[in-house]
Amino acid sequence: MKTKTLKQDKINIITLGCSKNIVDSEVLFSQLKANDFNVEHESKKEDANIIIINTCGFIDNAKQESIDTILRFAEAKQDGKIDKLFVTGCLSQRYKPELEKEIPDVDQYFGTLHLPQLLKTLGADYKHELIGERLLTTPQHFAYLKISEGCDRPCSFCAIPIMRGKHVSKSFEQIETEVKGLVKNGTKEILVIAQDSTFYGLDLYGDRKLAELLSRISDIEGADWIRLHYAYPSQFPMDALDVIRERNNICKYIDIPLQHISDNMLKTMRRGITKKRTLELVDTIRQKVSGIAIRTTLIAGHPGETEKDFEELCEFVETAKLDRVGIFTYSHEEGTHAGTMIDDVPQEVKEERAATIMDIQQGISAAINQQKIGKTFKVLFDRKEDGQFIGRTEFDSPEVDNEVMVDAKNNYVRIGDFADVKITEATDFDLIGTIIK
Ligand code: SF4
Repeated sequence: MKTKTLKQDKINIITLGCSKNIVDSEVLFSQLKANDFNVEHESKKEDANIIIINTCGFIDNAKQESIDTILRFAEAKQDGKIDKLFVTGCLSQRYKPELEKEIPDVDQYFGTLHLPQLLKTLGADYKHELIGERLLTTPQHFAYLKISEGCDRPCSFCAIPIMRGKHVSKSFEQIETEVKGLVKNGTKEILVIAQDSTFYGLDLYGDRKLAELLSRISDIEGADWIRLHYAYPSQFPMDALDVIRERNNICKYIDIPLQHISDNMLKTMRRGITKKRTLELVDTIRQKVSGIAIRTTLIAGHPGETEKDFEELCEFVETAKLDRVGIFTYSHEEGTHAGTMIDDVPQEVKEERAATIMDIQQGISAAINQQKIGKTFKVLFDRKEDGQFIGRTEFDSPEVDNEVMVDAKNNYVRIGDFADVKITEATDFDLIGTIIK
């Protein structure tokens, strides 16, 4: 295909999966724009004739969604509605040979780290000068900041190291350049993400440097909210908690996937930590950073999980009263350590256990929210919907946590602005309030 023809075409990028995939799509988007391509992200107009799907290959549901999306556009290509179809991202990285055989209508499959090759195929040059610069697909006022790629951890259930490779930290300087670029373009909230953010620096600087990184980001004028995601419990860098406590522009919030609590399961999952040390860590986080909101993720139904293990998990969720809990049902993934085990927990039991945990957490979330009635919180407003302005407190991350609703009839705020909100009502997972003039 002649390079020239591609430029007159229209490209639509489809992103599936996690925030790390969103960042990859934003980098691709920026590169194509800088090459003067007519490109959009998640356009609903169906007027693009070249489709790039950035897939997710994490667990069953996500894989199925990626395959369904590829098949949908493969059909559109057969029907002549589109000319070219390219697939990249984790599913493509993990199953390229199988996908090439099963869905040959795709023009080319690329891996997670093959951006230059994808650009070359489209007739675009990889612009090094763009490193650190990126067009956002999120609202301009918040952005994901990927501080590293890959993961060195041996978690039994996880296929991410297969798809993303070994842990590679970005340098302090590259990250600072990226944050300055984002802030210059109006971003106020920086969501620090990685596969394992607490591993930051070990590969590059020979030591855990998350605390220093958070300080450096916090020093950047205009970074009003900095939020830490994907912290790993084992060998947790305690000095990071001091920085979170001391810096006003670092949200009193931490996302720390624990996955389970029983010693039997933590050992089987190869998490490198015990129940006792996990409980101590949660206590230390709360002691060192008063009022911090803790988000975690848990897995129900991992091979070997007994009724007793699950009771321990329920008891932990009941007593730890964490602010935000997400739960996955175990997905049997070939190529992982757990993939070599017998998937001995029936699917319906997995789902029952996940539902039980969410029921417990719903009660805890409701109680935590009730305590917020009458209090005033700084809220960052994300959107206006159904006659309400909707935002989040520093204790809530976009897409996954609670929201604050303010009636648009009696209140006004610009999207992307902060405002102080007095909470007047609370539901299990959201807050309602009025803006304090
Ligand atoms: S820390 Fe564990 S669960 Fe997270 S990406 Fe790495 S291997 Fe997967």
